[in-house]
Amino acid sequence: MNIILPIVAVLIGFGVSYFVYQKSVTINLLLAFSGSFLLSVTVLEFLPVIYNSGVNSIGIFILGGILLQIILEYLSGGAEHGHFHLSKEKKTFPFVLFISLCIHAFLEGIPIHGNDHLLYAVIIHKVPIAIIIASFLFNTSLSKFKIIFFLLVFALMTPLGSFVQSNTTLLDGITIYLDAVVIGIFLHVSTTILFESSKDHKFNIYKFGIIVLGIVLALVL
Ligand SMILES: [Zn+2]
Ligand SMILES: [Zn+2]
Repeated sequence: MNIILPIVAVLIGFGVSYFVYQKSVTINLLLAFSGSFLLSVTVLEFLPVIYNSGVNSIGIFILGGILLQIILEYLSGGAEHGHFHLSKEKKTFPFVLFISLCIHAFLEGIPIHGNDHLLYAVIIHKVPIAIIIASFLFNTSLSKFKIIFFLLVFALMTPLGSFVQSNTTLLDGITIYLDAVVIGIFLHVSTTILFESSKDHKFNIYKFGIIVLGIVLALVL
């Protein structure tokens, strides 16, 4: 499940962007919901587990995760939370964007094994992001081959992170620290989504409602 579902989520996003996407209200609401649900699951379930692990100074790694995500967003222009600033005329492969997105996606795969709610949160977070990334790439002058390569490798990174964590011994000693780093990443990404989803800080009852819905859903699951 933790291998298949993230791939399916990203493929759904690509499909939606290829066939029906318009930069619409729906995508912004989905983004707001995904941010709120991810933040809620992180704070309610993921964070307590990490703090109860008894590992000293784990908080430092959470802060490190926030800093890492800030650096990744400098490189990606904020693609992890649904932002894009890349010239449409671009013909060369966007390596920096690609690598920063892959690092982000690989890391978020690490804690989803054996944590169903976090798995759902990551999947819901991926759908709008995949829609935005794919629809953006389809609107550039990049060749179809490059776009499909980009999207496929990106789709495989989260399952790869999960696979490496659960089926190899590579990360055995450091999983708890990586989990803490991922908490920092989730805190930064989800709060940025919520922050950017309210344009000019105008109160929007639909957005507020969908954010509350994300919190409530995480509480009752
Ligand atoms: Zn942004
Ligand atoms: Zn992400």
